[in-house]
Amino acid sequence: MIEKILIANRGEIALRIIRACREMGIKSVAVHSTADSDAMHVRMADESVCIGPPAASASYLSFPAIISACEITGAQAIHPGYGFLSENAKFVQIVEDHGLTFIGPSAEHIRIMGDKITAKDTMKDLGVPCVPGSDGGVPTLEDALKIGEEIGYPVIIKATAGGGGRGMKVAQSAADMEQAFMTARAEGKAAFGNDEVYIEKYLTTPRHIEIQVFGDGKGKAVHLGERDCSLQRRHQKVFEEAPGPIITEEERAKIGKICADAVARINYIGAGTIEFLYENGEFYFIEMNTRLQVEHPVTEAIFGVDLVREQIRVANGLPLSFEQDELEINGHAIEVRINAEKIPEFAPCPGTISAYHAPGGLGVRMDSALYDGYKIPPYYDSLIGKLIVHGRDREEALARLERALSELIVDGIDTTLPLFDALVVNEDVARGNYNIHWLEKWLETSFN
Ligand code: ADP
Repeated sequence: MIEKILIANRGEIALRIIRACREMGIKSVAVHSTADSDAMHVRMADESVCIGPPAASASYLSFPAIISACEITGAQAIHPGYGFLSENAKFVQIVEDHGLTFIGPSAEHIRIMGDKITAKDTMKDLGVPCVPGSDGGVPTLEDALKIGEEIGYPVIIKATAGGGGRGMKVAQSAADMEQAFMTARAEGKAAFGNDEVYIEKYLTTPRHIEIQVFGDGKGKAVHLGERDCSLQRRHQKVFEEAPGPIITEEERAKIGKICADAVARINYIGAGTIEFLYENGEFYFIEMNTRLQVEHPVTEAIFGVDLVREQIRVANGLPLSFEQDELEINGHAIEVRINAEKIPEFAPCPGTISAYHAPGGLGVRMDSALYDGYKIPPYYDSLIGKLIVHGRDREEALARLERALSELIVDGIDTTLPLFDALVVNEDVARGNYNIHWLEKWLETSFN
């Protein structure tokens, strides 16, 4: 059994994992760069190791530094959180070669799902519905134009190695194709070292609906319903909720079963998210994330489960602690992502927190590594906290969100909080009447 876990991450997610470890009686080891010596995760963990300079490439992404920290502290397993090394198949292989346990899926599953073309082919074979598009990679502009004709414009050109909203370009018509094709390829090459692209029909008014799955690695898997993450800016989620406001119980059961069966068939182990675009009652697979998601707390809230605890259980070879028919939705949950950014440009805004007060009360969860006087370093992601609320229904969750936002104080820096103060009282949001383009359109007329 795993007795000590090294957390190869920082910020709120490192704290989240330390909390699960503590409840399970497992020792935690924090790693940190020199920029993070005073970070909350370092203070909260049982032990900590400095693994390098501020640049993530030399610290949080350094294989030798992290493996050495395991050897020094005697940690038997590594939890990668999200981002950083969480979907790096090479890292997983090295972890295993050192006789350590990676808390997450196998290197092979990460590799398959990390390449979007292979992921789509695999999902199609497993019976998961996909967005119509090219069969695999599209090598030349001529091929791209031919596919555009076949599936009809608009189309989206995507880098197969893409992620985080990068390497995607829309072509509204054949006239846009050359520019979009070349840019997607160049972005793929620059950001991911791979210029292979593929083409999909561009859906014009979809919602982003993702299914949480969980496998035991032995052919058994369950689903934990959906999250609606349609409120996005530049393909980045900012507000997530579960269950989806317009998904019916029948739809959930059907797509949930398709997803759980698919991952069971490949003996998937741990948490995973199968992402779909949803339009006119149809689900279209876009990608699978082979890790814990930023927005996992909304699922935890409505099912009353601890997903990190489950990840550790299955990594230990234990069965899941719930069966599909024991998973029942209770109420509604919403998460907002608080970034150290200045609106309306969303420019990163690191600095010193002069005052911090977290909201509390019934149905409120604040996942954050902030504290009074904390100096946010400029080197990392601008996410500084997640506020999650849970109510008996969506209306109560929204009212609770408004109340919790009114209690939250983050002074000294600019944050995205004004965005949520406005969203929580917006009529379209109240009705759940939005798609993936709604937020950007709304931002054009707000905060100017
Ligand atoms: P990434 O890996 O960069 O997150 P995804 O493939 O998950 O990329 O897509 C991210 C977002 O891009 C989606 O949530 C959606 O907003 C948009 N998107 C992706 N594919 C399509 C498509 N075929 N039609 C319309 N929008 C799309």
